[in-house]
Amino acid sequence: MEARPAEPVPGYFEDETVRALLAKTRPLWALGHAEALMGWDNETYMPRAGAAFRGLAAAEIATLRQRMLLDPELARLLEEAQSKLDSLNVYERGLVRVLSREVRIARSIPPELTWEKARIQPEALAAWREARARGDFARFRPFLERIVDINRRIAEHLGYEGHPYNALLDLYEEGLTVDVMDGVFDTILPESRRVLERVRGDGFYPDSHPLEEAEYDRAAMEEANRRILTLLGFPWERGRLDVSAHPFTIALSVDDVRITTRYEGRDFRRTLTAVIHEFGHALYELQVDRNLAATPLQGGASMGVHESQSRFWENIVGRSPWFARAVKGVLDELLGFTRRYSWLELYRYLNIVRPDTIRVEADELTYNFHIHVRYTIEKALIAGELEAGEAPQVWDDLMEKHLGIRPRSPSEGILQDIHWAMGAMGYFPTYTLGNVIAAQMRRMILERLPDFPERVERLDLAPVREALGEAVHRWGSTLPPQELVERATGEPLNPEHFNEYIRWKYLQLPGELEA
Ligand code: MG
Repeated sequence: MEARPAEPVPGYFEDETVRALLAKTRPLWALGHAEALMGWDNETYMPRAGAAFRGLAAAEIATLRQRMLLDPELARLLEEAQSKLDSLNVYERGLVRVLSREVRIARSIPPELTWEKARIQPEALAAWREARARGDFARFRPFLERIVDINRRIAEHLGYEGHPYNALLDLYEEGLTVDVMDGVFDTILPESRRVLERVRGDGFYPDSHPLEEAEYDRAAMEEANRRILTLLGFPWERGRLDVSAHPFTIALSVDDVRITTRYEGRDFRRTLTAVIHEFGHALYELQVDRNLAATPLQGGASMGVHESQSRFWENIVGRSPWFARAVKGVLDELLGFTRRYSWLELYRYLNIVRPDTIRVEADELTYNFHIHVRYTIEKALIAGELEAGEAPQVWDDLMEKHLGIRPRSPSEGILQDIHWAMGAMGYFPTYTLGNVIAAQMRRMILERLPDFPERVERLDLAPVREALGEAVHRWGSTLPPQELVERATGEPLNPEHFNEYIRWKYLQLPGELEA
């Protein structure tokens, strides 16, 4: 059916072909809205027994989406828009780029393969849960073999230059390659190791803290999280905070962005830093230019850029000494037990440095080693250089080489994360990319707001939100990730900023704080 072109949006969407494309994609946006709401509900309020039919509905919707992306009229309009790319503005070109990419992906992967990947998921998840509970990798191994096989076939269908893993990296981070990622790791891992060794000898950053054992009242902690979100600038009329097993953020629209956290009853930094992390993701979605709302450009540029925003707030704001000083009053009032500790002790507690087998508990200095382990194994599995059965051994050896610790069982090694059981390969590197881009954003913020530390301490954060909004958020996915980073920070991706950040925080700052 011919769709009527969307109304022109002056300065954004004016070209007639582009407006026809926009009208065509509105139902796709609406499907995405429904999928997001279903995904949020899955993790928060859906009764357990609802999973099977929810899975069926989700698979049907995914198939419907693929069919809509393969609509010949959409292809014709895209071709027409491609032919006049030079006369289009930046938003129009962004729309054509994002849609062309989605259509190319939908067209490359045969529907049977998409279906196969969706079908294996529930069984793979069940096997992974059982394998993890028993520490029995053999239980999960046949599923890992099939998931590797599916991903290798996906890579072949998508096509790639150089390494086959490049095809999968690009799915999560447009344009990312093993060359880029190897370069990032080669730059940051040796320096992380050097700084880590000095930190562990020095004693300022502890490897454990009595506050880890302190039990909190759940209602009081919920209130503390809400108060701190309000201080960060979370707009409650456009967002929610709920509870889920794994914290996440989901954007239904620019006016409905939901985050979650979890409450374990002790070690309150875990729920608090999760809330601050998800706030960073949420702010990105909340500050996208309203003229891009309900279009294919509404979401963030990539997983890596998204993670840079969450890491910026979690680590660079939330784990700073100024923030510890700023929120101490709220914590003292609501939790009570923090009163026995100075703000400097609170800062130390928030920044425990401890090599651990579990990624999600890793600190800033050890985190990227965890990512490197899975990255190395995924790359080798996809290249056919490693058999699934050999992977646990490689995992344990790499952990020992990097952090000097060996998992006691596969449950705290190769089986710890859910991503493979969900069929995802190529996703993990975006975590490290996020850390690296966050450090580059910190440099940009310090240049624009030299009094950044004082502002964090006064919780005068509107200028920080505005600077990130202006440089990054407002664009949505108009620009490809590398171009967005370069425009926002004035230089291409540069992992040296991460090294500079860890040297400053872990080697220089302690002396200043103790002076
Ligand atoms: Mg995140």
